[in-house]
Amino acid sequence: MSKPSLQLPVIQNWSCHNCGGCCREHLIEITEAEKTRIEKQGWAADKDLKTDKPLIETIGKGRYRLAHQADGACVFLNDDGLCRIHAKFGEPAKPLACRVYPYAYHPAGEEAITVSLRFSCPSVVQNLGQSVSAQSGDLNSVAKEIVAGKRRDHDAPLIHRNPKHGNQQTSWSDFHQFLKTLDDSFADTSVDFVVRLMRAISWMELVEESQFVTIKDAKLTEFLSLISKASVKAQPDNDLPVHRPSRLGRTMFRLMAGQLARHDTEADYQRGLGLRFELLSAALKYTTGWGKVPQLAGSSSVATAFGDGTGSGKSRAVGFAELEHPFDGRQPEIDELFERYFRVKIQGIHFCGPAHYDTPLVDGFRSLALMYPVVMWLARLRAARGGRTSLSLTDVQAALATADHNFGYSPALGMSSALGRVAQLGKLKQVTALVGWYSQ
Ligand code: SF4
Repeated sequence: MSKPSLQLPVIQNWSCHNCGGCCREHLIEITEAEKTRIEKQGWAADKDLKTDKPLIETIGKGRYRLAHQADGACVFLNDDGLCRIHAKFGEPAKPLACRVYPYAYHPAGEEAITVSLRFSCPSVVQNLGQSVSAQSGDLNSVAKEIVAGKRRDHDAPLIHRNPKHGNQQTSWSDFHQFLKTLDDSFADTSVDFVVRLMRAISWMELVEESQFVTIKDAKLTEFLSLISKASVKAQPDNDLPVHRPSRLGRTMFRLMAGQLARHDTEADYQRGLGLRFELLSAALKYTTGWGKVPQLAGSSSVATAFGDGTGSGKSRAVGFAELEHPFDGRQPEIDELFERYFRVKIQGIHFCGPAHYDTPLVDGFRSLALMYPVVMWLARLRAARGGRTSLSLTDVQAALATADHNFGYSPALGMSSALGRVAQLGKLKQVTALVGWYSQ
């Protein structure tokens, strides 16, 4: 079988800095072959492994995952935060899932794969390490393993589902025209990031009103450029419209933010009823928006990389109302972080299609656009818990690492109720309002 061609993000660096976060916060599913390989490594006789349970759990017919220690960490993670399999047998002996993270590979054509990154990794958020484009050799080897024996004839994600005109499907080459126009709009650094985002939202609204049965190839290029000009006209360079989102818009937004902020690990799931009660009580608070924002289960890698934002270890209880006032501190570095995040997700098709609950381009982009106000809201919460009314870059980095852990991965966010909420926010024209409101 031919080698898939690999498309890499052009503006991202990454190297592993051994924080061990991914080994504490993810459940590692393994294949039958990986199970056999690990069993042959002879771990049963290793006295250092802290578990009296089997090292591999069966989670369904022919499905397995690595067991966890009492604190939720992978059973193979040692006290120095390093992988025992890697240390003893080398990197290729680890399960594929461990070698892939924080990369994410998505179909980009019949013989093409595009690579994105998960910003839940602190090194990705901080852009630390070697440029991704310089790692094409290793990424190609992993890509070959991922596609081995799998079908490659994926259709491009839908553009949108239109109740009047039916599903709008294009060829891969036309789909890439949409992506390129979108990516180019975020690359224009002469314009404030929030203006770029608002233009992209209004451009996508025009896409949603159109059908693409006859608009294709060269005609599509012309059409996309025409609607880009219309969206620029609709949102002039330095005139940010800031309207308070509606009460319903804010309620739906808080529920979405609450789901994106959760960081439950295997250790939390073991709490059974206790966790369910906590989730119910948090959902009630997010719905009403009264009183204090519930404490959320934090991620250990976010806490290790970015601290808790208090400077003293003493966190304040913060009321929902406090987060509705403008916060100072939106600095160029924060906009640069969002620009990189949006461009990596767009270039890596990490916001629609198979990477995002099979949502069409328009719906997936709406969810991605909402990541801006969600992350800014979570950054405000972190700053306010530290007694500050000014945001720092670290607040936003920690908030983004927290929310991106769930974006496209949390089963709760893929449920029809959560996806319906995002669609409703779009219909009520609340996405632009939320972006403007939390950008202040
Ligand atoms: S097998 Fe190794 S790399 Fe994979 S989660 Fe466990 S400790 Fe981490």
